[in-house]
Amino acid sequence: MKIKIDRLKEGDNQIRFEEDSIMSLNIEDYEIVSGTGLTLNVIRNNSYLHITGSNNITVKEYCDRCGDEYTPDIEIEIDYVFHLGDEKRGNSDNLEIIRPEENDGYLIFDQYYIETFYLSLPLKKLCSGSCKGLCSQCGKNLNEGPCTCSKDETIDPRWEKLAEIAKKQK
Ligand SMILES: [Zn+2]
Ligand SMILES: [Zn+2]
Repeated sequence: MKIKIDRLKEGDNQIRFEEDSIMSLNIEDYEIVSGTGLTLNVIRNNSYLHITGSNNITVKEYCDRCGDEYTPDIEIEIDYVFHLGDEKRGNSDNLEIIRPEENDGYLIFDQYYIETFYLSLPLKKLCSGSCKGLCSQCGKNLNEGPCTCSKDETIDPRWEKLAEIAKKQK
């Protein structure tokens, strides 16, 4: 995903990346299953670039609860401000600096896309909100059906007395 900086005119520019540019990204720890094309809107104002755009990317992920593979669809919302030159101007911490002489005058956008991807991942990795997880006794994936472990048999002997009391109180 490269943007030729000197081809950007003042004001609005649109740069389109097709599906295969998304598919060829190298995201550590993630295998990309599919991705939609991405149109970046680049607003140039002198030495400032404001880049926005959004698309969706589907990756392989593993459920924290049952361990099964699933493929979440991640919505990517790009929003970056770049400054062309060596020094930081203004006091925005979000400002990225580009030195146009690097990379033959191209802004390589991959790292920014990938950074946004990581920030967009849900905190909880669950194949579904109702994932039942694995049986703590036999390890069976309970999403595939109940196991034969009986709840009564698995009570820790130390809790048996308590369980009896609880039954009596009902
Ligand atoms: Zn799961
Ligand atoms: Zn079980």
